[in-house]
Amino acid sequence: MPNPILVTPIEEEKLLRILWDDDQLGDYPFAYLRGWCPCAVCQGHGGERRFIEVDNPQLVSIGMVGNYALNPRWSDGHETGIYTFEYLRDLSDRRESQSENRAKG
Ligand SMILES: [Zn+2]
Repeated sequence: MPNPILVTPIEEEKLLRILWDDDQLGDYPFAYLRGWCPCAVCQGHGGERRFIEVDNPQLVSIGMVGNYALNPRWSDGHETGIYTFEYLRDLSDRRESQSENRAKG
């Protein structure tokens, strides 16, 4: 499993940028990352993974959990999401395959 080397919140662009040790670069807009929060509060029990709509979430801080996951704290006080590296890579790949209109310029 690749590990993040650099985890950089970019507030002007409202996204979290992760550089992985296999040279992949992933951009995670805050709303996207917050929306796919994997915690039990957001996801409930079982079933399909749900996207939680949060209006203009801000990343307050982000910490490392052991050496397998990241734990962001959001401006709405939510901080129970543990995003494993595997999950983050999955989110990144999913976004890649969805985006026909990549960020311009
Ligand atoms: Zn959550």
